[in-house]
Amino acid sequence: MTTPHSITVPPASFALALQEDERLAALHRLDVIDTPHEEAFARITRLVRRIMDMPVALVSLIDGHRQWNKACQGLDQAQEFERRETFCNITIKRVEPLFVTDAATDPWFSDNAYVVGQPFVRAYAGVPLRTRDGHNIGTLCALSYEPRSFTARERDILVDLADIAMGEFELRVMAGEDVLTGALSRRAFKDDSKRALAIAQRGGYAFSVIVFDLDHFKKVNDTYGHAAGDEVLKRTAAACHGLLRPSDLFGRIGGEEFALVMPHTTALGAMAVAERLRETIGNLRIEVADGTISPAASFGVATMTGDGLTLDSLLANADSALYEAKAAGRNRCVLRNSQGGTPQSTRSVMKAGLIHSERAEPVACTVRIISATGASLDVWDAAELPESCRLVLPADGLERDCRIVVRTNRHIEVEFRA
Ligand code: GH3
Ligand code: MG
Ligand code: MG
Repeated sequence: MTTPHSITVPPASFALALQEDERLAALHRLDVIDTPHEEAFARITRLVRRIMDMPVALVSLIDGHRQWNKACQGLDQAQEFERRETFCNITIKRVEPLFVTDAATDPWFSDNAYVVGQPFVRAYAGVPLRTRDGHNIGTLCALSYEPRSFTARERDILVDLADIAMGEFELRVMAGEDVLTGALSRRAFKDDSKRALAIAQRGGYAFSVIVFDLDHFKKVNDTYGHAAGDEVLKRTAAACHGLLRPSDLFGRIGGEEFALVMPHTTALGAMAVAERLRETIGNLRIEVADGTISPAASFGVATMTGDGLTLDSLLANADSALYEAKAAGRNRCVLRNSQGGTPQSTRSVMKAGLIHSERAEPVACTVRIISATGASLDVWDAAELPESCRLVLPADGLERDCRIVVRTNRHIEVEFRA
């Protein structure tokens, strides 16, 4: 076996100066993080595993604070990792692929958390996934628990497969349609909806959104299998398509989560549509090999009230209503007025930030929304942050003292101190 690269290439010797905000903007344009499982990417990772004869293969994407895997074969842990210590986070800083033949003796990796701890990585091969405008958004990679070397042939195959994976991502942006359900992809849905919202605001007419999520869908998969779950998604989308007007926009915005944008529709009109959808979905009887599935869904409805409201805050309002519908027992519709929602002057962004606190090390975050009075941030572990902290956006030169006012596992909302 030959080794195409010296084993211990210091990552910095091929280093790209990552322009992190531009890189995140490129990732945002593709809008693939947190999108559903897709066979096309699973197939690529299956091929990598077989060709390289390595136990694990991933298509990874590097968000501001985490590594999220679009496809993951051979690792049954979480679909995401904290970004800081991952091998892929080093691969994306390079122009060339990264090969590590024995992490335990490699000066760059021997004390890495994933080498000295679970899953005890020993060898790694990763190729950056690079957009046409030159940003490394993630990797195609394989890893194993034994040291090994890599051949030039393996390297060439991995590079070609990484190109195919990148092409798949770009195709989806162009196609704008979700392959499984025929609904708009999240990206296309958001783009079209933003235009529709702007027109509604200019014309001063009503505009409402519905977000819905299938109830206990995990159980459908667990009981009847993934293919049966896919069939439920298809039939649900088909039932919705049957109820739409030509000006409505219908998108798949998550695994088993859909959204509907309705111009010229008031809050009450939208609630009526949501009720009709709920009944239609509830009446479906889907025959599969092991029985009959009767799906159900919960709905959140929100309507535009003010001029400056963004699509993201409208969707966030519908989402919080959906959350309420779930909490109240599922299979129901809840309406939320946007007045109580996010302030109107927010802008939706996708920026890399740092949270400084009394703790020794600053924590990476991804800024989702920012306004004059506060911000909405994704972090790896919200629990470890103290209530008082300082948000720094290096690219904007912004530094603000903050107080955390909302905290869930991976998400915080902060209020800026005067
Ligand atoms: P809840 O009522 O709270 O929404 O419960 P749930 O089980 O629907 O929600 P949860 O988020 O726990 O599980 C969603 C499941 O949807 C898990 C995931 O495997 C499945 N899923 C996501 N995308 C797809 C897909 O494309 N096909 C299939 N078959 N399942 C999918
Ligand atoms: Mg669900
Ligand atoms: Mg869901």
